[in-house]
Amino acid sequence: MAYLTDIKIAQAKELKHIREIAKKLNINEDDLEMYGKYKAKLPLALIDDKKIAQNNLVLVTALTPTPAGEGKTTVSIGLTEGLNKIGKQATVVLREPSLGPVFGIKGGAAGGGYSQVVPMEDINLHFTGDFNAVEKANNLLSALIDNNIQSKSNNLNIDPRTILWKRVIDMNDRSLRDITIGLGGTANGVPRQDGFHITPASEVMAILCMASDIENLKKRLGDIFIGFTYKNEPVFARDLKAENAMAILLKDAIKPNLVQTLEENPAIIHGGPFANIAQGTNTIIATKMGLSLSNYVVTEAGFGADLGAEKFLNIKSQFAKLNPKCVVLVATIRALRHHGGATTEDYNAPDLEKVTEGFKNLEKHIENIRKYNIEPVVAINSFVSDSDEEVDFVIEKCASLGVQAVLSEGWAKGGEGTKKLAEAVVEVVENKATQYKPLYNWNAPIKDKIETIAKEIYGAKNVEYSKQAQLNLRRIDRLGFNNFAVCMAKTQKSFSDNAALIGRPEGFTVTVREIEIAAGAQFVIPILGKMMRMPGLPAIPASENMTIDNDGVISGLS
Ligand code: ADP
Ligand code: MG
Repeated sequence: MAYLTDIKIAQAKELKHIREIAKKLNINEDDLEMYGKYKAKLPLALIDDKKIAQNNLVLVTALTPTPAGEGKTTVSIGLTEGLNKIGKQATVVLREPSLGPVFGIKGGAAGGGYSQVVPMEDINLHFTGDFNAVEKANNLLSALIDNNIQSKSNNLNIDPRTILWKRVIDMNDRSLRDITIGLGGTANGVPRQDGFHITPASEVMAILCMASDIENLKKRLGDIFIGFTYKNEPVFARDLKAENAMAILLKDAIKPNLVQTLEENPAIIHGGPFANIAQGTNTIIATKMGLSLSNYVVTEAGFGADLGAEKFLNIKSQFAKLNPKCVVLVATIRALRHHGGATTEDYNAPDLEKVTEGFKNLEKHIENIRKYNIEPVVAINSFVSDSDEEVDFVIEKCASLGVQAVLSEGWAKGGEGTKKLAEAVVEVVENKATQYKPLYNWNAPIKDKIETIAKEIYGAKNVEYSKQAQLNLRRIDRLGFNNFAVCMAKTQKSFSDNAALIGRPEGFTVTVREIEIAAGAQFVIPILGKMMRMPGLPAIPASENMTIDNDGVISGLS
């Protein structure tokens, strides 16, 4: 059987004017800031703390994924359609796609099959320009730093060798990881080593995701830690008087974007991805906006639950005082086969033995979610290659742990295929939801927080620190940043920091290579293993298969 591609399905949809979607959320057309007919920005004044406390937040996460992705975005959108179908007023709140993966291996992030947000091309490409704004704000600070070093009259005496602030671009471009700038003589700046991160992994994106309003955004931007002077004194963005100009560049980017699902339900899309190297979820403002306007909010946190959900629960929910009432753990039979030892060549063929072995990975994620006092529901994202035997096994095995596992057919059928999942979620939200509790308190010492995550969530035996990481810890202490949250950078392919350790590894050690500081976001970022904040492209990038015709119709985008 031939299946339509995601983009063909999306293009076949006749979109509703965005004012019609806004109406479903009781938003007046006058309050919309339109970007054409199908996209609009929402003013922050629509956020309503009372409603946030009354409405229901559902987090979608996953087991440890294969490189193809296990369908969290697809299930989040599908579940939202399903909830609306069974009579709940639900909005999906997602983060924005990054151009790096769009042109790399993974493709876009607007869902798949009959569970998509549209217009998918716009959402996956420049959308409403938020990433560009983040990039410009970030690079303005870079330009101000280098200009300050160059200037004789307005010089903070910054030691160029200590600058930690990097430039950013939204592209997978490994050759920009380590570069030299300022060559060409005295008129062209002072030569120094620099480098690029990918835009969504930038601190400005993290700040945008954590900010509560423009005042708070400015404060956080001013708090960005840049490096040291020759006298070893810390330098912050506020010392360069950078924060106000940076905030000006973000004046529209701070507002969440409203679009629609294929079934004409509201979708709010805002903030950057990358839960392996950043916090990887939509902005606090967007989640709060959704909860202010809608009885149910379905949101997604990137990669496996050890990364995205851990950060969502310990960083975002704790800080923003959100109370997620149910966690949907997306599992695919394919990923369970993979964790049972199937290779990429054969993980698409039924193999109950491998699924049985691979279930250990899912079981650890289930145990982890319960540590937050939240009841999980497992969504088996249905693939045509699944056998009934394998699906039944997962449902029964989950039942033996007291967890509802439901086949989710949103990819093939939209909301019609997720009604059962929606009912299971509603059952948890209405009958079993309790007050969630984070796993650590931000005020605990940095090392304790790292250990809690490594041991409780990853299942590590112990944590080791490189010389560099020990120096970084001392610096964090000297700068008074011990009460920051811990935003781990770790491979998404394993519970451990070693991508090859599939399933449920035990008795392993994780090594903290270095610890970066994102003072404006109030994170420290321990880098485990070989993680980098600028990805590369694969040998055959997805871009090779894309095109646009004379009528402006795009194909090959997935
Ligand atoms: P995640 O959010 O977990 O990274 P996505 O929802 O973006 O995953 O899905 C990744 C890719 O897999 C998308 O291209 C999507 O179309 C495809 N996909 C998702 N679910 C299914 C399914 N049930 N059957 C086939 N393809 C699917
Ligand atoms: Mg996704």
